[in-house]
Amino acid sequence: MAYQVACSQEDSFMIKSEDEQEVMQHVKEHAAEKHDLTLSDSEARDMIEQVS
Ligand SMILES: [Zn+2]
Repeated sequence: MAYQVACSQEDSFMIKSEDEQEVMQHVKEHAAEKHDLTLSDSEARDMIEQVS
């Protein structure tokens, strides 16, 4: 089981890891740096897809 996020904006950001916390952290950093967005934990978690 792994966790994956492809940015909802149309850019090339994509992360996949078996560590959900790591994925959330990277998504939040990406959103802040590239989109000037501050995501809550639940918003970041909502973006995660579980892949096997
Ligand atoms: Zn993005």
